[in-house]
Amino acid sequence: MNVKLLPRVTIRMLRATLKPGHFECQKCGACCSKYTVCVTDSDIKRIINFYGFSPHSFLTGVQVPDSVVHTYAGIPRFIGDRGRELVLALKEKNGRCIFNEGECKVYPARPLNCRAFPFLWLGGRKFKLNPDAPFMCDGLGRGGKFDFEWLLEEMLLLEKEWEAYRLMVEKWNNLVRSGAATPSTRTFISYVLGVKVGVQESLRDS
Ligand code: SF4
Ligand code: SF4
Repeated sequence: MNVKLLPRVTIRMLRATLKPGHFECQKCGACCSKYTVCVTDSDIKRIINFYGFSPHSFLTGVQVPDSVVHTYAGIPRFIGDRGRELVLALKEKNGRCIFNEGECKVYPARPLNCRAFPFLWLGGRKFKLNPDAPFMCDGLGRGGKFDFEWLLEEMLLLEKEWEAYRLMVEKWNNLVRSGAATPSTRTFISYVLGVKVGVQESLRDS
């Protein structure tokens, strides 16, 4: 069999089957152009603390198109500009994440959502291969056995941080509805970072 003639996706599947659970990122950036990277306040703070970037330089509010709304189930939406419901996400440039410059510019502080790829956490100690992975990820079946214990810890943290963020978004939306905050992506970002945005602190902390 001439392996070179096989489609790349088949080769990746073969590699993943022959060496299940083995993975080593090849830093090709393919996964960084496939998804909108939704973030929490904790993700943002890690990037700012690590690199000192201005939040407005890398964050944006994205309106989720109806056709893919089901894939955003569980991602809280804040009330932003012109009363639209938006998800907070990393900006994109030339069709890929703004931090992808060949390789990830914020790798040690990359959002928790980025860390699981090419695997999907199923809850408990269970993971499976992300069905998109064979179409793009050359790291499958390479390197040593992947450290799923590490990933599990990251996923448990992710769950906690998303829960805290969800409550924060709920509070924000209530503030907007009561007229105590002006809806915009900018003011929302300031709010999640704890900057006063014309909102009484007592309301934020209630
Ligand atoms: S933050 Fe890094 S890993 Fe995540 S999508 Fe952007 S470039 Fe890729
Ligand atoms: S597609 Fe796979 S190999 Fe490429 S950057 Fe993403 S995880 Fe790494």
